[in-house]
Amino acid sequence: MGANLQTARRALTSSHLITTCATLAALVIFVSMGNQVFSAAFGSRPADETLRVAFILNIAIILFGWRRSKDLKQALEAQERAEQLAFEGAFVDHVTGLANRRQLMERLTEAARESRPSTLLLLDLDFFKNVNDLHGHVAGDQVLRNVADTIKANVPETSCCARLGGDEFAVILHDSDPRAVDEIVANITSGISRPFSLDRVVVHVSASVGISEVGPDKSPEDCLRRSDIAMYSAKRAGRNCSVWFDDQMERELFARTELEDDIRQGIAAGEFIPYFQPQISLETGGLTGFEVLARWDSPDRGLLEPDSFIQVAEASGLIGALSMSVMRRALVESRDWPADLKVAVNISPVQFRDPKLAQQILKIVTEVNFPPQRLEIEITESALMEDRDIALSTIESLKNVGVTISLDDFGTGYASLSQLRSLPFDRIKIDKSFVATLLGDPQSSAIVNSITSLGKALHLPITAEGVETNEVKDQLSEIGCSEAQGWLFGKALPAMKVRELLKLSDPAGDAPNQELPDTTERRDRHRRAASGQRAPR
Ligand code: C2E
Ligand code: CA
Ligand code: CA
Repeated sequence: MGANLQTARRALTSSHLITTCATLAALVIFVSMGNQVFSAAFGSRPADETLRVAFILNIAIILFGWRRSKDLKQALEAQERAEQLAFEGAFVDHVTGLANRRQLMERLTEAARESRPSTLLLLDLDFFKNVNDLHGHVAGDQVLRNVADTIKANVPETSCCARLGGDEFAVILHDSDPRAVDEIVANITSGISRPFSLDRVVVHVSASVGISEVGPDKSPEDCLRRSDIAMYSAKRAGRNCSVWFDDQMERELFARTELEDDIRQGIAAGEFIPYFQPQISLETGGLTGFEVLARWDSPDRGLLEPDSFIQVAEASGLIGALSMSVMRRALVESRDWPADLKVAVNISPVQFRDPKLAQQILKIVTEVNFPPQRLEIEITESALMEDRDIALSTIESLKNVGVTISLDDFGTGYASLSQLRSLPFDRIKIDKSFVATLLGDPQSSAIVNSITSLGKALHLPITAEGVETNEVKDQLSEIGCSEAQGWLFGKALPAMKVRELLKLSDPAGDAPNQELPDTTERRDRHRRAASGQRAPR
């Protein structure tokens, strides 16, 4: 609470006290001596002027004191209300009336200091975004209030219940007996998952809960982090359940933070490099272009494929920088390759949330002087699920300068036929999971067949990914796929190998390339790794 407010209240309280005392003293004098003084001052005997003045003054003091005391009392009440509002603004969540993050942190500090056995629950609603998207924010707020009431109704009164923001809640329970805590948590989660009527619709939400013990050896941030890790583990375990924090989770978190740091440093050091996988025309058998696939040439971890870093880069907000650095490198490496060879670059759905994406891509294309009509951007269906308007305007800006767009991994997501028609794609890529099982699985075969006929109807060429055998290739040709990509034609190769394949000379030799990230840091990191040192963090 503000120090100024407290000082003002103290001043008001003491004024009120002094005024009240003075008024009371005047009143006592009046009651005890009023009678005598009155007859001396106004009686039949010669009136005593001084006493008369004193008597009137006494009454005036009483009246003034009473009035002033009343005013001060009102001012004090107003002050207390202001303090309450200030407290609520700073410590209370205005949507639910629960404590906010700040108050929770203070209460966690107190609980740890007092060494009271306590537990911190962290609750995150599952699929709450759907409620907001489908029914609007007012409905969303009602659901949050309902959840807050359910939590409060199921915990002892001494607990501190808080909303940390969004759909995240926390509770400090002054109990660490696992059985008692589990019972409380089960009551909360079953209460939250009960269908909830909202105007004329019924809404279903559930909560994933992470639980950790509060202790004097842990800071409030530590406690929150532990419960948060446990909560994510509950999400991974299928949601609508609770998980206690354990040390294994801590180790995983440490490894993950280290990986994030390494990715960050790796991007700056230019360790993410493009590999190029050939794409083939099934009609002519000729090379049509390459798909750029990122590889991480890490001094500490070796040469890594995307499944070891893309997800973490996406979750930690590093994917934009990573993809862009790979793309810049790929375009620099491939700009002098034959003009009819396309270069397809993957862009993550996370990047599609950024309204500046098209601008960033076009900036690189211009800076490295790459012909935009040779560039193809591969996007997956989920990019369209996030924010359709942003995705559409990005696609349009790119297409305006001649960049082509292909819909990647088709069949694995939710892209509908109407989306295929309304969004200006230039190509569909059938996901390798269907292609790999094309011959053995009738369902896969039906999917590949129908995607191909869809492509023909919409005049969109189809590329099949993951072609590993001649039998699959022949079958795809028969169905009418126009292009293919897969280990049968070649795995992803570094630029140097592609140059050999294309019988091109080495353009740069050993001279450092000004358009690529500075490699000094990279060389340092390789040297440090060779001598067994970790990079400084
Ligand atoms: P994707 O776009 O579906 O890429 C095709 C993946 O299939 C590549 O895996 C490729 O190596 C693999 N593949 C190609 N032919 C065959 C085959 O015949 N058999 C099998 N079993 N696999 C084949 P990779 O290189 O591990 O890449 C995985 C994913 O990582 C890519 O899937 C793409 O979504 C993502 N990715 C790669 N590079 C980047 C990048 O620079 N930025 C972003 N945002 N994502 C990237
Ligand atoms: Ca791709
Ligand atoms: Ca793909």
